Amino acid sequence: MSFVTHLECANCGQRYEAAQVHNLCPACQRPLWVRYDLTALKRAFSKRALFGRPPTIWRYLEMLPVNDPANIVSLTETITPILETKRLAAEFGLQHLFVKDESRLPTGSFKARGMALAISKAKEFGITRVAVPTAGNAGGAMAAYAARAGMEAYVFMPEDTPAINQKECYLAGAKTFLVNGLITDCGKIVGEGKQTKGWFDVSTLKEPYRIEGKKTMGLELAEQFDWQLPDVILYPTGGGTGLIGMWKAFAELEALGWLKSPKKPRMFACQSTGCAPIVVAFDKGERFAKRFENAATIASGLRVPAAVGDFMILDAVRQSGGLAIAAPEADIPKWMRLASTKEGIALCPETAVCLGALELLMQRGAVKSDERILVFNTGAAQKYPEAVTAPLPRLDVTKLIDWEKI
Ligand SMILES: *Cc1c(COP(=O)(O)O)cnc(C)c1O
Ligand SMILES: [Zn+2]
Repeated sequence: MSFVTHLECANCGQRYEAAQVHNLCPACQRPLWVRYDLTALKRAFSKRALFGRPPTIWRYLEMLPVNDPANIVSLTETITPILETKRLAAEFGLQHLFVKDESRLPTGSFKARGMALAISKAKEFGITRVAVPTAGNAGGAMAAYAARAGMEAYVFMPEDTPAINQKECYLAGAKTFLVNGLITDCGKIVGEGKQTKGWFDVSTLKEPYRIEGKKTMGLELAEQFDWQLPDVILYPTGGGTGLIGMWKAFAELEALGWLKSPKKPRMFACQSTGCAPIVVAFDKGERFAKRFENAATIASGLRVPAAVGDFMILDAVRQSGGLAIAAPEADIPKWMRLASTKEGIALCPETAVCLGALELLMQRGAVKSDERILVFNTGAAQKYPEAVTAPLPRLDVTKLIDWEKI
């Protein structure tokens, strides 16, 4: 059995049975938190228990909601490395800049963390048909985990979703549809299919367990930093699951008494100027974000014009003393190239946005040069061949090579 006690609406506080299948809070249509008996957990689980466990997200099993380990659906969600960057740090005038490289996870993005938990819980509930609207990587991850579990999967994506995401869903055998609309239109289709086809909806934050999967980023980085959290976290924010999940992880670790200092990172929600609903709400001092019209960004994971967990993102950012900040869309290829050129780290366009934000934060004095700053590389650059053009010179083998030009 897990240490889960109940689910609790993040908005209205209503409590629900964890033993039943839930999507959003039936009372107010907002996301649900998974709550644990932290007192019992504290007695039963210790840092020492981690020694010798395999380096995967499942090493934190006691802090996760799966009741029976036999229900775990896994492709081996490895602990991702934290790379210290020296040359890239120097570009920003920083001393300690780290990249947590989530591109190593199954399907090449951190969506694997959330889907591993969502599909494991779906299996535990006996669900056999799952559906998701996606901007890209969530669909790919869900398709892979559903295949691994032997479930039927339905994926709905805007027709301009990156080609790799379309193909990975197709290869994984998901029934995949291209929709001539936005992710919100795809979400409506899934909502209707729920009623007519009996699908389980695993949309971002519309089921309670993807947050728990993303929470493992916070648990992991705390362990990697020897339970002394970094000063600043830059997170490329779409639906916000990861930022919300990490903030929850830090609170739970604090309750367990595992953190060496009560000081928590300032959380910075980074968005592109092409789609920045959370930044607009933050700047206005609002708790709920308005829909961002004409959203357009090559950072497809950030193309979320309206997030159902907007208030959860904004609460976490404000409680932490951070900011929501938008970086110029046009600069994405520049930052991708800089990180790769300086460090050999291939950043996804979503993370490139964080570097643009970091430059702005340094200019504003919101981040100091001696602070420990952690950026999440949430996906593999290789999944986005559309994002960058490479103007490479050509060589003609039928002619003599002009060595002056090489
Ligand atoms: C989905 C996604 C994001 C945004 O993640 P959220 O937790 O939904 O905010 C960022 N980067 C990549 C590569 C993604 O796939
Ligand atoms: Zn509610």
